[in-house]
Amino acid sequence: MANVLFDALFAPLRGRASPLLILSDGRTVSGDDFLSLIARQANALRDAGLQAGDRIAVQVAKTPEALAVYGAAVALGAIFLPLNIAYTPDEVEYFLSNATPRVFLCDSRKAEALAPIAARHGAVTLTMNADGSGSLTDRAAGQPATITAADRGPEDLAAFLYTSGTTGRSKGAMLSHRNLLSNAEVLADLWRFTPEDVLLHALPIFHTHGLFVASNVSLLTGGAMIFLPGFDLETVLRLMPKATAMMGVPTFYTRLLDDPRFTRDLTRGMRLFVSGSAPLLAETHRAFEERTGHRILERYGMTETNMNTSNPYDGDRRAGTVGLPLPGVELRIMAEGREVAQGEVGVIEVRGPNVFQGYWQMPEKTREELREDGWFITGDLGFIDAEGYVTIVGRAKDLIISGGYNVYPKEVELLLDEVPGVLESAVIGLPHPDFGEAVFAVLVPQKGATLDPAAALETIRDRLARFKQPKAAIVMQELPRNTMGKVQKNVLRDMHAGWFK
Ligand code: ATP
Ligand code: MG
Repeated sequence: MANVLFDALFAPLRGRASPLLILSDGRTVSGDDFLSLIARQANALRDAGLQAGDRIAVQVAKTPEALAVYGAAVALGAIFLPLNIAYTPDEVEYFLSNATPRVFLCDSRKAEALAPIAARHGAVTLTMNADGSGSLTDRAAGQPATITAADRGPEDLAAFLYTSGTTGRSKGAMLSHRNLLSNAEVLADLWRFTPEDVLLHALPIFHTHGLFVASNVSLLTGGAMIFLPGFDLETVLRLMPKATAMMGVPTFYTRLLDDPRFTRDLTRGMRLFVSGSAPLLAETHRAFEERTGHRILERYGMTETNMNTSNPYDGDRRAGTVGLPLPGVELRIMAEGREVAQGEVGVIEVRGPNVFQGYWQMPEKTREELREDGWFITGDLGFIDAEGYVTIVGRAKDLIISGGYNVYPKEVELLLDEVPGVLESAVIGLPHPDFGEAVFAVLVPQKGATLDPAAALETIRDRLARFKQPKAAIVMQELPRNTMGKVQKNVLRDMHAGWFK
């Protein structure tokens, strides 16, 4: 009898008296208590009808109890399906109709609106609130604190993780026990995690970054997590001296840098800062090193594959690149059906034990993006330099083709970002009667700055070929982002679709 993920991540917690989770108010949850919580929840969920192979959809705040539901699902051999807490009832309905879970877990304040939706799609609703209370917790309280984990092999599914929906409708990526464990093992090794590590965990646990990269690596290696409900600057500054490592999205790092209390001294006990999920500006990388002496380690991954590349732990962490393919992960750059020459831009494809099993209920989408020989077409554009470092230049869907020429938005954005007064920029293609698409720039001013878009474009004129130059620019106070903080270029394209018509 074996359960691949349970045996590696959760079973070893038995008997561990030291803290697994350290909460912002100083309370702790020991490894042994956490495993007992998992067992109680698993027994309660089984009583509620959850069986091996069933889905359990979860839209709840980040708490120890919520993380335990992940363990309980794994223990039962059920498929864990976490949902972004920001999703509206209409969005939740899409996920429930697509995934048809047996159990749906949500905040009791939302249960009145969501339970009928869940029922319509065959799910029973249980509740879990931001303080960990709720009907699941009540039912778990009377249950035995042990459980025999269901048999699950490497190919069995452990989770459906829906993509962030940056480029279109979210797709449910089917992830197996092997997908998750193989990636956690590689990262734990590469990033040198040990039982002494204390991971500052401020990421959401409905996304691959916080759930699989952060939590799985920490669980696998026997360390502790400072487990915060979200990224609150004050709390992160207060608790950083107790941590050894942190994983974050780029905005965590820019927000830290914006605060003068974030100093070299505060990071003295830290050995590692990891960034991912969105591009980290080379400038942030440099500013971070200047302030703290630490070089942020950037890595690249996605819902469908977990992590694919990482900058090295020892060795050169290169700003603006996402590093080298992970051990066991193959990576190639393709254009027009062929692998491109070194240094040329094309679509990144990856293959390895981390690559998902396909999109749930979307066989056509799966066929389009996952080749029969195992290569996954990521949809990201990038190139590999002479030393093997991968640089991402944008998404294939955001590539602009103007008058027959390819324009990579990132190249233009990097120049615009350097213009005095510009905080950040987004370059998109808009329909144009002559050029097919025309390059268009959206500029966000720095705090207190006023920008003249035409003058800003003028300053980069002589640094770009004419076909790459934006034909127009506007100023917006902020860019539209999804709940993961990713810029939604499709929203910008829709907003300004008529500009050149
Ligand atoms: P959808 O697929 O639904 O449009 P999404 O691709 O944003 O949404 P995720 O799987 O959360 O959903 O995000 C993966 C994407 O995030 C990658 O394909 C890549 O474009 C981007 N990404 C991740 N890490 C990095 C990084 N370090 N640098 C640049 N981009 C990154
Ligand atoms: Mg995607």
